[in-house]
Amino acid sequence: MEYAILIDNVSFYYEGSDEPAIKNISLKIKEGEFVLITGPSGCGKSTLCRLLNGLIPHFYTGRLEGNVKIYNLDTRKTPTHILARYVGMVFQNPENQLFLSSVRKEIIFGLENLGLSKEEIKKRFNRIVKLFNLEKILDKPPYELSGGQQQKVAIAAVVAMEPKILVLDEPTSNLDPVTAQEIITIVNELNKVMKITIVMVEHRLDLVCPLVDRIIVMKNGRIIYDGKPKEFFRKVKFETCEINIPKVVEAYSKLRNYINFNNVPLSPNELANEIKSKIGRIK
Ligand code: ADP
Repeated sequence: MEYAILIDNVSFYYEGSDEPAIKNISLKIKEGEFVLITGPSGCGKSTLCRLLNGLIPHFYTGRLEGNVKIYNLDTRKTPTHILARYVGMVFQNPENQLFLSSVRKEIIFGLENLGLSKEEIKKRFNRIVKLFNLEKILDKPPYELSGGQQQKVAIAAVVAMEPKILVLDEPTSNLDPVTAQEIITIVNELNKVMKITIVMVEHRLDLVCPLVDRIIVMKNGRIIYDGKPKEFFRKVKFETCEINIPKVVEAYSKLRNYINFNNVPLSPNELANEIKSKIGRIK
């Protein structure tokens, strides 16, 4: 089977460092999966993301061991402009990604770089403007937008290029909770409706866990858990993982010696339904 992402026993040492930033990582991600990556600061999440679009080894110097394949293309041997057709990348600070004088130009820039025909650019542009609801801000310079709007434009500009895989490295960490929820909803729709494979580094587990197929927890450059979020919270001593446990899961862990849960709740609704099914209606 051809995987969207295949990482085989990879370690990476940044130039001048004797300690690998990531150690012996192996990972297979299928087309259409929504994968959450989390773990404490410095555990190697960004390094893992940089492997996926070839920033490592093409831009960051150091020693790369093992192999990374994107749709069977070895990232060592494939130039980044080719990998960019497969993998789109969104970072924490959208202002680093937006540098033109209008939102319109931001969206069109990437499409022109792909060498598409005028008609195809127009078609994709119109589709993206509608999908991301950008009509009203098309002529605004990105620096006049709010952080949330900027992040939306950054994601739109990447999605316009129709990557098969979208990698987002802490896209909501500078946003307020409501705007973060909006961005996460958009990312979820890109996965569920457009079937884009998503790899997302995120600390807001309460918002993301209910949506993802898989959670990868990292610590000290290694993967310490890879599987379904419900299994993770049911089986693993998550208190030791240095991650933001969703409040609902905290409540579950405090109640599980008293209530025989059928399933680990990941949202307030699921928690309420579990409890309702156990206690029945009182009034
Ligand atoms: P995270 O994204 O989980 O915070 P990183 O991948 O940024 O973790 O960092 C993993 C390790 O690699 C850390 O020890 C960090 O100091 C080191 N590192 C990250 N980027 C660089 C770099 N450009 N040069 C040297 N070391 C780096």
